[in-house]
Amino acid sequence: MLVKQNLIEFTNKIPSHVTLVAVSKTKPIVDIQEAYNAGQRVFGENKIQEMAAKHEALPKDIQWHMIGHLQSNKVKYMAHFVDLIHGVDSLKTLKEINKQAQKHNRIIPCLLQAKIAKEETKFGLSFEKIEEILASDEFAALKNIKVTGLMGMASFSSDDQIVSEEFKRLKLFYNKMNANGAGFSILSMGMSGDFKLAINNGSNMIRVGSAIFGARNYIA
Ligand SMILES: *Cc1c(COP(=O)(O)O)cnc(C)c1O
Repeated sequence: MLVKQNLIEFTNKIPSHVTLVAVSKTKPIVDIQEAYNAGQRVFGENKIQEMAAKHEALPKDIQWHMIGHLQSNKVKYMAHFVDLIHGVDSLKTLKEINKQAQKHNRIIPCLLQAKIAKEETKFGLSFEKIEEILASDEFAALKNIKVTGLMGMASFSSDDQIVSEEFKRLKLFYNKMNANGAGFSILSMGMSGDFKLAINNGSNMIRVGSAIFGARNYIA
């Protein structure tokens, strides 16, 4: 019951133009089913094989988003069903997704992950690199992927101003790309701890795990 309650409370907190990705990584099928029964249809996972197993076990109208860092050799396990891949941070990975999507006659939507945090550990591309990839002939040749927007993770900081500035930078870049014809519709930023700041700074897709499903227990 707790998941259902959390989900309803959470959904009431966010504006209707913001898509909630319920991040169910490490959580059991029963928890996801409970969220599903409460009306949630978009779920995010960060491990391809875990997501594939859950896709097999759960209702087929769930939209599965891959939010984790990708290993190219595992893209094949999700190419037939994944709805959106958030964390793409190289042309090489885009090529692999394209190749696997082609086998299933699909066009897979992808978000490029921009590095906006100062921390060394965060993956992601510089804004310059994103522009370079999108302008390249190699990218233009990839017919089975579509870059529909950008994703970013802010610094883990208790300083709201730092976090807001990072989100704002990405929103401005997103706007600039669209002014230049990128045709983006998704800006994925914000998690349990910073979704409010993300929405205030232009996010239209948030990835929320612990606020819905409770803290993750990585030992279990
Ligand atoms: C785990 C994860 C989230 C959700 O984190 P919470 O703090 O539990 O909301 C969001 N985005 C990514 C990329 C993640 O790996």
